[in-house]
Amino acid sequence: MITTQKLTGDLADDGWKGASDDCNMENLKNSESCDPSSFLRHFRKSSATPVMLLRHIAQAMATEMQEGLDHPGERKLKMLPTYLECLPTGNERGLFYAIDLGGTNFRVLRVQLDGKEGRILKQESIQVPIPQEVMTGSSKDLFGFLAKTIVQFVSREADLGFECVALNQKRDIGFTFSFPVNQTKVNGGSINAWTKGFSISDGVNDTVGTLAQCRYWNDDAMVGVILGTGSNACYVERAAAISCWSSPPEADDLTVVNIEWGNFCSELLPRTFADEGLDADSLNPGQQEFEKMIGGMYLGEILRRVLLKMAEDTGLFGSEIPERLTKPFSLLTPHMSTMHGDDTSSLEVVGSVIEEAIGVKYTTLATRKVVYDVCDIIAERGARLSAAGIVGILTKINRCGDLMLSCLTTPNDTEVKKTVIAIDGSLYEKYPKFRNYMEDAMKEMLGEDYANNVTTTLSKDGSGVGAALLAAAISTELRLGDVGVTK
Ligand code: ADP
Ligand code: MG
Repeated sequence: MITTQKLTGDLADDGWKGASDDCNMENLKNSESCDPSSFLRHFRKSSATPVMLLRHIAQAMATEMQEGLDHPGERKLKMLPTYLECLPTGNERGLFYAIDLGGTNFRVLRVQLDGKEGRILKQESIQVPIPQEVMTGSSKDLFGFLAKTIVQFVSREADLGFECVALNQKRDIGFTFSFPVNQTKVNGGSINAWTKGFSISDGVNDTVGTLAQCRYWNDDAMVGVILGTGSNACYVERAAAISCWSSPPEADDLTVVNIEWGNFCSELLPRTFADEGLDADSLNPGQQEFEKMIGGMYLGEILRRVLLKMAEDTGLFGSEIPERLTKPFSLLTPHMSTMHGDDTSSLEVVGSVIEEAIGVKYTTLATRKVVYDVCDIIAERGARLSAAGIVGILTKINRCGDLMLSCLTTPNDTEVKKTVIAIDGSLYEKYPKFRNYMEDAMKEMLGEDYANNVTTTLSKDGSGVGAALLAAAISTELRLGDVGVTK
């Protein structure tokens, strides 16, 4: 295993880090002025993610994953067991429900499944806002409200042409619960804390639902990734690897582990002054380092911090600092992706976003080009780090080819298996350059040939349909008296 110490040295020797002329990032911290292009050059250098660095980050992720499994709750990666003993196979039949309790809305869905021939015959959902008095009331009020909504929805199943289930017959329902839960079994756990007046999602079930939904269609789905407001991933693991599972199924059986990868941190991550400032001013300093370089909640804010520094140190927007640029979160990730998607030769779109979001009416083409380049650097770094995280998981489950430094499981397994990565979230879905950078970095890391065995695919609405499919899978397995993730 290569140590961090040595690695940093090696990489510095490659010349990707450690700028030494008049306008390096250290000097910039001390407000030494320079021109925009030197600033940009140094910012690009300190954000760089050459493929060797990405491979080392992937290896560090795989190592941390093993650490988290071996020492439950004591390492940076929580590696939360889901206690799932099966995933959807596509063979499920019948009527199944899911409820999705997120930040502000409550959703109830039903799907009618007809095995591999008919697949999802019919699906329907309703979404209701959670009334303010319920959000701040007792848990009895909340669950009473949820139950009432479910009963109303279920009572209309026959009217809408769904398979009719006798009213006294039990229905199977998947529950997506976006609060921190200490799960103790597949359908049980205790809530850690009622966070948020209802707003922080820990994404536990998003990522598992994303994987489950993809697995329903494709047996090769092994990894679920969320690239949205925050970032997280889960993967299919051997049940025997879950040391805190008191009565796991057979040793060879598989389950799903929620990595909570947002909290990954490493000396290897190419952090800049903007990341340090963002972290220090955040509600959770020192935590979620990886997520803060990738998540949709943060990319726009990193951009704002870089542009503000450039305005201060290089006069990017003229002699005055635009007032709005000093306000945290005045630039959002959709602003960034809109500017980054500008393909006009005069960068008109960049100009109008600068005007609308920052309030600077006139900009030169050179300024707009600098802003475009900063978007590009931040998005490229976030996308390539996401790719490194995914390759880290592939390393852990030995689906990374022989190009990585080492593999932690079944090193003698040389069979090339197809692997599908299920991804959900706006960064992947609605930010084409982010997605392309991520997919290109995976190819670079895995090598073009091996990368042909790895597919990334959008798996939308895992927290809804994915949960119903999980309910279907679990109920089917229970009926058959069988356990184990079917492969
Ligand atoms: P959630 O994470 O809440 O499930 P999403 O997957 O839609 O929701 O992700 C929301 C995040 O994606 C927000 O941080 C938002 O800023 C960002 N986002 C939304 N649309 C875009 C877009 N077109 N380009 C880039 N980022 C976007
Ligand atoms: Mg989501």
